[in-house]
Amino acid sequence: MLVEKNVPLQPYNTFGIMARAHALVRIADAQDVQRVLADPELGARPKFVLGGGSNIVITGDVRPLVLKVEIRGRRLVEETPRAWIVEAGAGENWHDFVGWTLRSGYPGLENLAMIPGTVGGSPVQNVGAYGVEMQDRFESLDAVDLASGKAFTLDAAQCGFGYRDSVFKHASAQPGGYGLAGKALITHVRFRLPKPWRAVLGYLDLEKKQAETGIREPSALQVYEWICAIRGAKLPDPRVIGNAGSFFKNPTVTPEQCADIIAREPNIVHYPMPDGTVKLAAGWLIDACGWKGKSVGHAGVYDRQALVLVNRGGATGGEVVTLARAIQTSVYERFGIRLEPEPVVV
Ligand SMILES: Cc1cc2nc3c(=O)[nH]c(=O)nc-3n(C[C@H](O)[C@H](O)[C@H](O)COP(=O)(O)OP(=O)(O)OC[C@H]3O[C@@H](n4cnc5c(N)ncnc54)[C@H](O)[C@@H]3O)c2cc1C
Repeated sequence: MLVEKNVPLQPYNTFGIMARAHALVRIADAQDVQRVLADPELGARPKFVLGGGSNIVITGDVRPLVLKVEIRGRRLVEETPRAWIVEAGAGENWHDFVGWTLRSGYPGLENLAMIPGTVGGSPVQNVGAYGVEMQDRFESLDAVDLASGKAFTLDAAQCGFGYRDSVFKHASAQPGGYGLAGKALITHVRFRLPKPWRAVLGYLDLEKKQAETGIREPSALQVYEWICAIRGAKLPDPRVIGNAGSFFKNPTVTPEQCADIIAREPNIVHYPMPDGTVKLAAGWLIDACGWKGKSVGHAGVYDRQALVLVNRGGATGGEVVTLARAIQTSVYERFGIRLEPEPVVV
């Protein structure tokens, strides 16, 4: 087992923040985790599990032992009359995995194309985009307990999925469930892709593509290509300008709270949800507070989408966090709404 010392983390986080890991071990399979845990010195150290680094803000050199997940492999586990069950190692690149499922004839993940990061990182915040969430296609996952070394499997209910949420985002147990943040390393994830495949198209951008092209019944590959084009035009490419995608969750409020805000802000962007709550567009709230294009040090608010915080070059994690807090304060003062960040602060 190779323990790398003083490892630069800039290439391993999409914000491009400069920091170092005091020690880093690459995890190629579940046995590598056992080896780390069996080591008297490494086993006792606090640990941080790193996937593709696309949903983290690093605020300084990382002292816990970094376990960089590089578990590979993807396969069809089973085909039934009602579904394809496919599996991937947690270290597989998510977007490449989506492409592989489509090329192999297993459609269903196309709306989630172009989300950066790894397969293992995807259940952590129940990734979602364009009308599909991970939980809609999830079968089960395998993980290793970082204290005991025991392997275990969780189904969707046990993962406690919510909007950009799961048991892997909470350190203490949720009512009726687990709290596994920092306590487990996901090794494999399985997906259930239902048959017959049906396109999920109920998003304005996708409807526009249908209208532009005249294609009313697109194939899964066509939807994938549309998603890639839409996302490429909207979101900053982390290889060009560092970012972690949407920085805040879209908040939900009661219909009464929403009516109260509409009375003051008639143009507010809001979406009624099936459970009776109303979802507000966090980007709109931030923009309304005048943040688009503004900066704190080298961290800024993307000038084409206020929901995305960016590294304008040489930003520290501290600057990103300070900017995020300032935005939270102004949105709270103006709308009485507390914005919750999506990325994990390390
Ligand atoms: C340009 C851009 C666009 C984005 N668009 C979207 C989007 O549309 N929808 C969306 O939901 N997200 C989006 N994201 C956020 C991000 O891509 C996802 O959350 C992604 O799934 C994170 O995976 P990762 O491997 O990079 O995780 P990391 O950033 O490495 O880690 C995030 C958290 O997950 C934990 N973790 C990672 N891997 C494992 C593992 N194997 N076992 C246990 N814990 C683990 C880490 O410890 C950390 O707490 C976007 C990000 C960017 C930069």
